[in-house]
Amino acid sequence: MKMNTPVNLLDFDIDGLVAWFAGLGEKPFRARQVMRWMHREGCDDFDAMTDVAKSLRARLKDIAVIRPPVPVRDSVSTDGTRKWLLDVGNANAVETVFIPETSRGTLCVSSQAGCALDCAFCSTGKQGFNRNLSAAEIIGQLWLANKLLGAARETAADLEAGDKDNGRIISNVVMMGMGEPLANFDNVVTALRLMLDDHAYGLSRRRVTVSTSGIVPAMDRLRDECPVALAVSLHASNDALRDRLVPINQKYPLRELMAACQRYLERAPRDFVTFEYVMLDGVNDSDAHAHELVALVRDVPCKFNLIPFNPFPNSGFLRSGAERIRRFAGILIDAGIVTTTRKTRGDDVDAACGQLAGQVQDKTRRTMVRLKQSTEIR
Ligand code: SAH
Ligand code: SF4
Repeated sequence: MKMNTPVNLLDFDIDGLVAWFAGLGEKPFRARQVMRWMHREGCDDFDAMTDVAKSLRARLKDIAVIRPPVPVRDSVSTDGTRKWLLDVGNANAVETVFIPETSRGTLCVSSQAGCALDCAFCSTGKQGFNRNLSAAEIIGQLWLANKLLGAARETAADLEAGDKDNGRIISNVVMMGMGEPLANFDNVVTALRLMLDDHAYGLSRRRVTVSTSGIVPAMDRLRDECPVALAVSLHASNDALRDRLVPINQKYPLRELMAACQRYLERAPRDFVTFEYVMLDGVNDSDAHAHELVALVRDVPCKFNLIPFNPFPNSGFLRSGAERIRRFAGILIDAGIVTTTRKTRGDDVDAACGQLAGQVQDKTRRTMVRLKQSTEIR
């Protein structure tokens, strides 16, 4: 009789795979072999794993699969940015974006179908929330992008040559796609471990970034369990404004968030936190806001990344003007804070920050409530 649903081996980090192989009576080195085939060679076919015993291959074929999400659309921007829409079942789809630059290639990975946190200016948030992605669906984005960019082989060769970070097509990963990574903690950490593992992608901790809207207890857990580079979506200089723009602030206000950033830095691979700050015309972009920010982050070693707001239909916000952004940045820089303004990439394929929408069947009641409100207003 055939076993139940096959196990997707992309769901395991090395410890998980070793334990699963142990359950089959197989030694840890077998797990390591299979892990290397899967992630370093980009192999999804047990028959191709030539150094694995034939009997084990036959057994694996019976009970396991290596199954990444399925791409349903592939768009390439004029600036080279590439965006994939990935089917994650039940009419849900998420997006992954590859951003090539001269000295690096960054993959922007999604962690949830939708997002429950409902930040006022975010297209993903406006879609509502359907579910957490599995570890296989998260690491599967890197697996797939490597394959589709034809990079799997180079990556393996670089690792072989002991070249940990250079010369790869995907040199950096940012958890800045759809969803709040720290609200899907366990699956995200499993995927992060695979990104860092020399048997898999072997990226250094500094080249893997988690971006969070500020879920304080999960920031502490990340620090303890898998410290990687940290970006925090700040977007406001005081609690009243942040409560409105980033509603999770009502639960974890700025004072607690700043303290969590300081605790994180005790273990972080970089000695600063990156604060992301979306520039919203007339909302959070005045000189006074900039001065308030300088005071707010006084005790947190940090850099600022200003993100010109990326519009989407009915957002209700406008992007700050270039001159306003320049002046705002100037105030932070004068206070000694390294500040960059993010170049908008992939505009023509809606691949910029906060524009990722995918297809999400909302399981919260939010869409219903909004529809009701909009009919009431009329
Ligand atoms: N949920 C995580 C990571 C995903 S969003 C987080 O909030 O940090 C990645 C970044 O894009 C975040 O800083 C987010 O606030 C920002 N963002 C969201 N919508 C945006 C928009 N419309 N324009 C510009 N940036 C946006
Ligand atoms: Fe979720 Fe991040 Fe969008 Fe906020 S900005 S709704 S946390 S994805």
